[in-house]
Amino acid sequence: MRVKISITGIVQGVGFRPFIYRIAVQNGLAGYVRNRGDAGVEIILEGNAQSIQNFLRDLKEKKPPLAQIHNITTTELHGNNEYKKFTIYRSSDEKEQAGSVIPPDIAICSECLAELRDPNNPRHDYFFITCTNCGPRFTIIEQLPYDRENTTMHEFHMCSYCQGEYVDPLNRRFHAQTIACPKCGPQAYLTTSSGEHIKHNDPVREAGRLLSEGAILAIKGYGGFHVAASTIMDEPLQRLRKAKHRRAKPFAIIARSLEAVKSFAEVTSKEEELLTSHTRPIVLLNKKNSYALSPLVAPGLHNIGVMLPYTALHYMLFDRVDDVAFVMTSANPPNQPIVKDNEEALRMLGGTVDYFLLHNREIAYRCDDSVLRVHGARPSFIRRSRGYAPAPILLREKARRCVLGLGGELNNTACILLENKAFISQHIGDVENIETRAFLQEAAGHLIRLTNSRVEAVACDLHPKFITTRLAQELAEEKGWSLIQVQHHHAHVAALMMEHAVDALVGVVCDGYGYGADGGAWGGEILLCTRDSADFKRLAHLEPQPLIGGDMATRYPMRMAATILSKKLDVERWLLEHSGSLPHGETEAKIILQQLRHGVGVTETTSCGRVLDAVAAVLGICYERTYEGEPAMKLESSAIKGKDTLQLKPIIRGNVLDTTQMLYAIFENVGKAATADLAYSAHAYLARGLASMAVEHAQEAGIKAIGFSGGAANNQILAEIIRQTVEDAGLQFLVHEAIPTGDGGVSFGQAVVGGFFRF
Ligand code: ZN
Ligand code: ZN
Ligand code: FE
Repeated sequence: MRVKISITGIVQGVGFRPFIYRIAVQNGLAGYVRNRGDAGVEIILEGNAQSIQNFLRDLKEKKPPLAQIHNITTTELHGNNEYKKFTIYRSSDEKEQAGSVIPPDIAICSECLAELRDPNNPRHDYFFITCTNCGPRFTIIEQLPYDRENTTMHEFHMCSYCQGEYVDPLNRRFHAQTIACPKCGPQAYLTTSSGEHIKHNDPVREAGRLLSEGAILAIKGYGGFHVAASTIMDEPLQRLRKAKHRRAKPFAIIARSLEAVKSFAEVTSKEEELLTSHTRPIVLLNKKNSYALSPLVAPGLHNIGVMLPYTALHYMLFDRVDDVAFVMTSANPPNQPIVKDNEEALRMLGGTVDYFLLHNREIAYRCDDSVLRVHGARPSFIRRSRGYAPAPILLREKARRCVLGLGGELNNTACILLENKAFISQHIGDVENIETRAFLQEAAGHLIRLTNSRVEAVACDLHPKFITTRLAQELAEEKGWSLIQVQHHHAHVAALMMEHAVDALVGVVCDGYGYGADGGAWGGEILLCTRDSADFKRLAHLEPQPLIGGDMATRYPMRMAATILSKKLDVERWLLEHSGSLPHGETEAKIILQQLRHGVGVTETTSCGRVLDAVAAVLGICYERTYEGEPAMKLESSAIKGKDTLQLKPIIRGNVLDTTQMLYAIFENVGKAATADLAYSAHAYLARGLASMAVEHAQEAGIKAIGFSGGAANNQILAEIIRQTVEDAGLQFLVHEAIPTGDGGVSFGQAVVGGFFRF
């Protein structure tokens, strides 16, 4: 019998051909296996029918752990047998099927780690030790099929030792495209801040020593550069904050081991599972009471972003030092993508760092670390990138057409929706300039090529001035694709709906800003969405509040606080007393008061973020937003230790949840109740108010589920109280599990509206 088998999924770069080779030989079959240019695998088998049956069983039951099989097509071939044995054939460039993709980068496996530590192994102490089960993939592949010449390993010629392993079917590195050793592979080296080589026979461990002594280093990793520093010395952190213009934004850290993490942070079993998984994301962990790292690492927050080493290089950094952790933050100049090339790094980071730890292998595609937070036992993506992208999210049904979603503006991603799979790109960042626009365009184009997709429509935001909207319009025109514009919060709810396969949903969406269907600034919304309509119904929202001074009101929460409070009392004295918290002091306070009196050119917002900001200012927790979400994050950090002392009853007028009276109540109790309790009470008010409105509307409309999405859904207190209220009412509560909760999930939401909703 002769058959041809085509397999789609994640089947290149995961040791799939070696696996096929082994099960074919074990079952006494002849023929070949080869990679295809469409990221799929093609197999010809010759042998008796029973052996082929056994092969197909083994294929499903014994597949390599990182492989994902989406589809297996078996066709019987006619004619006589042609093959005497089974071989791995040269890859073909043919592109027939769509929807296969290469794997994400994979953390170093335990076998490679053991070899790294074995003095008798030829790869002992080698910073770039990898195998078929681990190493960079997404960031190393320039084009398909996944062969060495199509990766940035093409310039390194295998030595005879590596070659011997590469062709040995019994070896773990049989056909491992990233195979390398100290003799033939990439080399690491240290340079000064101006790029002069520093001679050292152990540059990686020397880099660890320099960090431990207080130096700042730029370190080249799998998907880009990190900036690293001590976590216990204040001096380098002060210097780093100054150079990066990051006064307060928390730095992620890399810890030497799980035990080390437990010395400064609480780790639940779910968090432990994530930290040690082969995706190795940054996990936000609660600081322990005995937390003794520098307060400059994550100032004013109850939690800290921690990851464990995911490359041999990371492990080696800690070998000769006692430090439990180092700062390891993405190296990206303000509003720019993460730096990936050596030249670019020297140019952009030379003024920030003392040394560079470089290597001579190029990075094909940039990819930031992923960030997750765990609520109870449920992980919630703050950023879905390294270790996850470009693996698809599998949906329960097939989309009507192939749609490219380009996302919104902040924390952006792109998404390709193809049949029942959604491929979300790595983290792109804030698309506010030419560099990030180029990165978005490149990432989207790369996804289209990798998945061999034939895009039919492009989806984007409603905002007429977003760079992403303009890009979508250009692409639609140029390629003849349909253009679909999706309101920001509608995209958030649609994402929840398709993630959980529900046809109708009442969605609570809380975030900072989304362009409303009426052109207004929305951000505390309750929407009714169904798949029967490309439109949605705005059921309710937070009370609109004036934004005095536009963007200034977002940057300086005192403006928000004064504006809201001025509806209830004369804020003049209070504002003048607190004018020290404004950048221009009393002068500015007077201008604000004047603006309040005249209300000139004031736009309004229903943003949940702005209300939380105002509470943070009234409580003296945060007066300036130096990074996105800062006041609200610090408010949550305070509230986490508090309780609902005020027990404010939600004031609902029509379909509007009052926020003025709430802020006033907090204001009146300053000094009378504990700050943490007031912070908690504000959260409880908003969560109970929004949830009770959502429950009422859902019951009225006969809808069984309520969802919670948007950046503020990463807030544990809000999410937990809304869950309680919804479940107490006997309704199902939905949150994101596989899709980013904040704006990283918007591209997916846009794409699903275009691919699943009725027009
Ligand atoms: Zn390995
Ligand atoms: Zn070698
Ligand atoms: Fe949003």
